[in-house]
Amino acid sequence: MTKFIFVTGGVVSSLGKGLTCASIGLLLERRGLTVRLQKFDPYINVDPGTMSPYQHGEVYVLDDGAETDLDLGHYERFTNAPLSRDCNYTTGKIYLSVIEKERAGVYKGHTVQVIPHITNEIKEGIKKLATPDVDVVITEVGGTVGDIEGMPFFEAIRQFSLDVGRNNCLYIHLTLVPYLKAAGELKTKPTQHSVGELRKIGIQPDILICRTERELPKDEAEKIAQFCNVERRAVIEERDKDYTIYEVPLSLVNNKLDELVVEKLSLTKAGPLKMDDWREMIAGMRAWDRDVNVAVVGKYVKHHDAYKSVYESLIHAGIANHCRVHIRKVEAEKVEQEGAEKALSGIDALLVPGGFDKRGVYGKLDAIRYARERSIPFFGLCLGLQCAAIEFARNVLGLPDANSTEFNPDTPDPVVCLMDAQRKVTTIGGTQRLGAYDCKLVPGTKAHAAYKADVVSERHRHRFEFNNEYRAAFQRAGMVFSGTTPDGSLVEILEIPDHPWFVGVQCHPEFKSKPNRAHPLFRDFIAAGLTHKSEKKSDPGRSSRGSQIATVG
Ligand code: GLN
Repeated sequence: MTKFIFVTGGVVSSLGKGLTCASIGLLLERRGLTVRLQKFDPYINVDPGTMSPYQHGEVYVLDDGAETDLDLGHYERFTNAPLSRDCNYTTGKIYLSVIEKERAGVYKGHTVQVIPHITNEIKEGIKKLATPDVDVVITEVGGTVGDIEGMPFFEAIRQFSLDVGRNNCLYIHLTLVPYLKAAGELKTKPTQHSVGELRKIGIQPDILICRTERELPKDEAEKIAQFCNVERRAVIEERDKDYTIYEVPLSLVNNKLDELVVEKLSLTKAGPLKMDDWREMIAGMRAWDRDVNVAVVGKYVKHHDAYKSVYESLIHAGIANHCRVHIRKVEAEKVEQEGAEKALSGIDALLVPGGFDKRGVYGKLDAIRYARERSIPFFGLCLGLQCAAIEFARNVLGLPDANSTEFNPDTPDPVVCLMDAQRKVTTIGGTQRLGAYDCKLVPGTKAHAAYKADVVSERHRHRFEFNNEYRAAFQRAGMVFSGTTPDGSLVEILEIPDHPWFVGVQCHPEFKSKPNRAHPLFRDFIAAGLTHKSEKKSDPGRSSRGSQIATVG
């Protein structure tokens, strides 16, 4: 039968519960088990798709089109567990479903209440993942214990052990053990309080994972064990990683977390841990002796997590190319103020990620022009492709007011416009072109060379598209549409063959990259950045020369 792990957090948020869940998933997979991962988010939005990245960081998109929490990105990067919309529930999504059932008469005259109707709905969401082939379902509860809005989720996971048996459930609680400089010591009291809070609602944690800046001394670990009623060996230190988040699973192995989980859940099917390739990957990262500077010009760069998957994909591409990727996060508005020359000086490659709304767009256009004219590798994602099209129309085709109708509905040259399917859409939640779509590639292009395939599948999240009325003019001026939907109706990838590496994609390839399997486009983009860097070194005048593309008009 399937076993269940619940991961909760205390003391503060942002402790890395998502990474810890992903790491536990990885360790169990590497002991031969089949896992599934899911996250509960206690906020009321039905999904994070309607939230600003400033509020919530990146919106992570799945194949089935679900717009989810960015922790699901960690799950996918660390494990092979398939994810679907059943892997992320918010309070809003749970209530919406219960209210729809109530309206449909499903509850047959009963008063509909938090307990049992909401909690049952939550428990159904957990059980849904426990198909007969699955050994362990790992469920992360967002927020911290004690939050009012998280209560139904905590109550549901408490009840869950009554339904399936306490021995089939494992409660892991993540806390912070802060270092107090004035006292010169680590403090365990917040952890004691946090566990006290959990026990008050009927959950006795089996394992405590203590996030610390410093080594957790033996005495402190013993104190935590005693006060929190947890076995000493189940108090696990998880020290901050200075190097890479991909070390987290190794540090959990060093603290024997995998053994503890296997033993406590009697996972008799578990085999020996196979982590050699992962260890080699980390050792390889430490041995890098070359680097590349990539500018990411976006609108939300101040928020650490707004482009999470993009940053991770760049690191994966670094792993594939054996080089450290220095990511220079550049506010698009800074490019508008300072000019691209100054804001982007010294870069080896430019990436423009996805985004919405007008703010900063003109900075992105300047940045792209700079990369195109200086033969600096460029990679545009979603809005990045759309900006590349606008820039090309303005500066190569000579259409100075070319724009996307998203930014100027009255532009005389709408090179990017609303997709037909979007014209009648009136609500914003979950109504974009979302999820996996096939893309047909043109042989002989950079995209085809990267993917080494004729048809690929990538995830999408957009409403606007390249306007087909401009295809011929773009092609005449040297732009190649190297990827389209299989019926040819939508542009999916564009590139400039007469440039070292200039590729824009309508999709979000950053959602399909893994540390040990870099996305082919990111991999080739970084390889092009390295080439640019070495050529720049051997010919310093190179980067100031224009590209070979003719300026028309
Ligand atoms: N705002 C653009 C659109 O809706 C791009 C979206 C994105 O970059 N994800 O098409």
